[in-house]
Amino acid sequence: MAQVIIIGGGIVGLSSALYLRKAGYSVRVLDQGNLEEGCSFGNAGMIVPSHFIPLAAPGMVAKGIRWMFNSESPFYVRPRLSADLIGWGWKFYRHANSRHVDKSMPALTALNLYSKKQYQEWAATLPFDFGFQERGLLMLYHDPHLEKEEQETAELAEKMGIEARVLSLPQIQALEPDVRVSARGGVYYPGDAHLTPGTLMKNLLQHLRDSGVSIEGNTHVHSFDGDGHTIKSVRTTRGVFTADHWVVAAGSWSGWLATALGVTLPMQAGKGYSFLLKDVPRNTRIPTIFLEARVAVTPMGPNLRFGGTMEISGINHTINMNRVRGIVNSISRYYPDMKVEMPSPRDVWHGLRPCSPDGLPYIGRLKRRDNVIIASGHAMMGLSLGPGTGRLVSDLVEGKEPEVDLAPFDPNRYS
Ligand SMILES: Cc1cc2nc3c(=O)[nH]c(=O)nc-3n(C[C@H](O)[C@H](O)[C@H](O)COP(=O)(O)OP(=O)(O)OC[C@H]3O[C@@H](n4cnc5c(N)ncnc54)[C@H](O)[C@@H]3O)c2cc1C
Repeated sequence: MAQVIIIGGGIVGLSSALYLRKAGYSVRVLDQGNLEEGCSFGNAGMIVPSHFIPLAAPGMVAKGIRWMFNSESPFYVRPRLSADLIGWGWKFYRHANSRHVDKSMPALTALNLYSKKQYQEWAATLPFDFGFQERGLLMLYHDPHLEKEEQETAELAEKMGIEARVLSLPQIQALEPDVRVSARGGVYYPGDAHLTPGTLMKNLLQHLRDSGVSIEGNTHVHSFDGDGHTIKSVRTTRGVFTADHWVVAAGSWSGWLATALGVTLPMQAGKGYSFLLKDVPRNTRIPTIFLEARVAVTPMGPNLRFGGTMEISGINHTINMNRVRGIVNSISRYYPDMKVEMPSPRDVWHGLRPCSPDGLPYIGRLKRRDNVIIASGHAMMGLSLGPGTGRLVSDLVEGKEPEVDLAPFDPNRYS
């Protein structure tokens, strides 16, 4: 039986493990962490085919610069003399234009819809519940400029085959009967979905173990050994592992691992925070994004999760409570009757989103390392795109024609 090693046990690595095991491979997942708290565990749980516009889009650079001077703003780049950051920033700037957006939209839509289909199959066939609900997504706004932007996005969505409805406040309130909403209006994307990410990850790990996948936590991969273009083994903090095929699904650390493979894969970590309100007596029903604040709000059973901020500040785990305050302060503007206290730092979760500079993930085989596949860089949509990516990774290992065009996601595009 051919052996596959997957480096990284986030949603992308575990989804790849699921499909590869199904296809009959002997699969091992190596992760440097404890597989309990990484980026795939405490995120906002939204499955978002409505998000077909890449982060690198017109206006983002100017918005980013404005936000940088407000300590409670949702976006921040810590200025530092790092060649990686400067190179990444320059590439982001070069891609933040409408030509790039026009080219990327169909690719992101196809991957998103394909991935949501996999979640529907998982919900119907996997032997555990992960809170998957297809109730759509509401985008709320107060500002007339954001109203115009979001309504233009809704028109584009319809052209891409994604249903979008512009709603007045009374129509929004009818969708949210238990919580008073304040907004100028909103756009509703009925095709989006949500789930409880921690429950999904915990159960998926157990299911993979039960299916014979070997999962090794606390195992940091630090170098590769090979023969010409073929990788034969990795050295880790827990010894050497060999395999026939390799999948790098190492999230924000994938750029570093690519360098160890002799390949350029620009990547920055985009830190975000979340916290959970437990047992909310009058909870919301529909996952919602507060557009001005860029805060995501998701009902998870009786609980309500708030998430947000994007800090490009390198790989670090410090919690900036000013930005958490920005999230808390935004809540009463949209839900005036909901009283939310500042959480204590120990109740704030953080995750590092793996961000490519053009806003498109990297999915494909490396040209210079013929038995290595990269699956990373999904930024704000990794949970949404994980299952689809995993299935495409398995197709590549099996030598099958993938069902989604992978050309826009080529991991060799910066090499
Ligand atoms: C606040 C917040 C809210 C979000 N909300 C959503 C949402 O609603 N919907 C959505 O689609 N996405 C959301 N995201 C984004 C999503 O969480 C990420 O895109 C996704 O989790 C990335 O998954 P991944 O498997 O690529 O990486 P990760 O989950 O980071 O997994 C990578 C793994 O690789 C391991 N690793 C790295 N280097 C090595 C090494 N050298 N050796 C061994 N192991 C290694 C790491 O330990 C890690 O466990 C959100 C993110 C944040 C922060």
